[in-house]
Amino acid sequence: MMEMQLGSASGLIDDSADWNECAIAALVDWNANLGGTGVSFNAIRNSTQPAGSNDGFNNVFWSDDIFGTPFGEQTLAVTAHWYFEQAGVDTLAEADVIFNNAQAFNCYRGARRLGPTPESTSMSDMKRTALHEFGHVLGLDHPDQTTPPQTEDAIMTSTVTDIDSLQLDDIYGAKTLYGVAVVGIPFPPRDQVLDFFLDLENEYRDTLGRQQNNPGSVNAEGSAVWFPEWLRYVLNGCTVEEAAFRVGLQIIGQGVQPVCGVVASGTIEFPPRNESLDFLTDLDTLYRDILNETAPDSYIDLEGKAVWLQEYLRYRVNGCNNQEATDKVFQQIRGSGIAPVCTA
Ligand SMILES: [Zn+2]
Repeated sequence: MMEMQLGSASGLIDDSADWNECAIAALVDWNANLGGTGVSFNAIRNSTQPAGSNDGFNNVFWSDDIFGTPFGEQTLAVTAHWYFEQAGVDTLAEADVIFNNAQAFNCYRGARRLGPTPESTSMSDMKRTALHEFGHVLGLDHPDQTTPPQTEDAIMTSTVTDIDSLQLDDIYGAKTLYGVAVVGIPFPPRDQVLDFFLDLENEYRDTLGRQQNNPGSVNAEGSAVWFPEWLRYVLNGCTVEEAAFRVGLQIIGQGVQPVCGVVASGTIEFPPRNESLDFLTDLDTLYRDILNETAPDSYIDLEGKAVWLQEYLRYRVNGCNNQEATDKVFQQIRGSGIAPVCTA
């Protein structure tokens, strides 16, 4: 619930009746793009709730400073957050959006109105500034200030641009924060990965004549869920370490974590196989030492799991269906060499 208290305005270029109407349009835009997250904004227009810090109310208001701290000279607005710690994780308690009284605003679409001498005649757009700040309220940060910086178009970049609406990067970021998996790379459903994994056990037993003598702590379901999840993070811009950390957070119940970047479609680079093996080794340690899990011995050694799960997923994200990918992996296991992927 946002306490909208930006007050009256006249002569707004897009015919908004007042500042609150201009900023509420930004809340409406966010709500239209938060489907599936379970999160949406509400607004109290012309709220009289006093603007206090850490008082449990999300005020949206003008001020000369940020609860006593001066605005930066160029700063249009800030979002001030307060958190409490829950199970070792910062949990958002309140976010106030404070617009800088010293800046000239209007409400318009399109290119920025910078004026002939910027400082005196520039008018910043309240709507895109509000879209940005409400993104901060949701928990987003500036994508151009990561290491390395992202270069995608976004309303969340650290400085205002001619972009006046939410971009895919903003929307994907927000959805991912709230547990909606949005990735450009199509990962197969978990039950299909599990089917493949169980078939792989049989292949090792029946075709390769292996014994059921590979101890481990991760059962088939764990392997089928967490290996693809780790790979999903890696393929979406995370280092192998970051990916393993995010999977660890999921395993201990912290929910789906954001991916590290938006990957251009077309090129899907898989990590070296030794890194997949390292992840499975760490996963086994986590299951054994942290979760105190045990699993039946497997026909497949850990290296076989790393190689063939990765190979199966490589076929899947490159256009093969479950049967095609399974067949191609088993052909490889039987010595036929690497088959072409299924994309044209
Ligand atoms: Zn910002």
